[in-house]
Amino acid sequence: MSRNGSGRRVLVSGNWKMNHTHYEAIRVVQKLAALLRAAPLPDGTDISLHPSFTSLRSVQTALESDSVPIALGAQTCHFEDGGAYTGEVSAEMLSKLNVRYVIVGHSERRALFGEDDEVVRLKLDAVLRHAMTPILCVGETLAQREAGMAESTVSGQLIAALKDRGPEALGSIVVAYEPVWAIGTGLTASGDDAQAMSAAIRRELELLDGDVSRSMLIQYGGSVTPANAGELLACPDVDGLLVGGASLDADKFVSIARSGR
Ligand code: PEP
Repeated sequence: MSRNGSGRRVLVSGNWKMNHTHYEAIRVVQKLAALLRAAPLPDGTDISLHPSFTSLRSVQTALESDSVPIALGAQTCHFEDGGAYTGEVSAEMLSKLNVRYVIVGHSERRALFGEDDEVVRLKLDAVLRHAMTPILCVGETLAQREAGMAESTVSGQLIAALKDRGPEALGSIVVAYEPVWAIGTGLTASGDDAQAMSAAIRRELELLDGDVSRSMLIQYGGSVTPANAGELLACPDVDGLLVGGASLDADKFVSIARSGR
């Protein structure tokens, strides 16, 4: 499969964060379904939707009962399969809901909920153990970028999460480059910056496994909108987008997903 051109695979994921009750979630899914029925996505473009835990079952049912071409995703999980972890949800529980993608290491989880590289690695293990695809988020803060440490920060996060994993595991991981300064701020990395970091990530992945690295998907995330999605998806090493705020609106999200062609 070529990295560019017609054989290219693109994954656009909507991270709803702590938004939308399950009633609202169903309404958005119905709207998405209608939009995709009216005009299917370009070949090779896939969408995943990551609602809150309370909406997962409703969204699963809405997607499956209407055969809507959207994969179900979750925003995080616990690394243990079960036990005395009040308030947590395991990867096993998610897999039984036909969840296909699980976001791991989102910067909000790292910054607000104390998830360090060790926890991120354990969560990756759990998601892979239950045959789902982790979307591993990496990215630097503004202070790290200004100190010239953007690449070393991202590389450290990648190595901590991915070292010593075989080709099979690596091949089922999606990496999302999300500069922390661009998340929810309205600031977006330029196409050049997104490409430069995605290429650096690809080089890092090559060191882990040359063959597998070429087919691994690298998403960009950070204030993606219908206005900037085309420029970002035109970057040769950007294979998709992780979209927060703009994914809450069905029209905007579908418009973003159509920007890759
Ligand atoms: C995100 O939550 O991963 C994200 C990129 O958010 P936003 O698009 O709102 O910046």
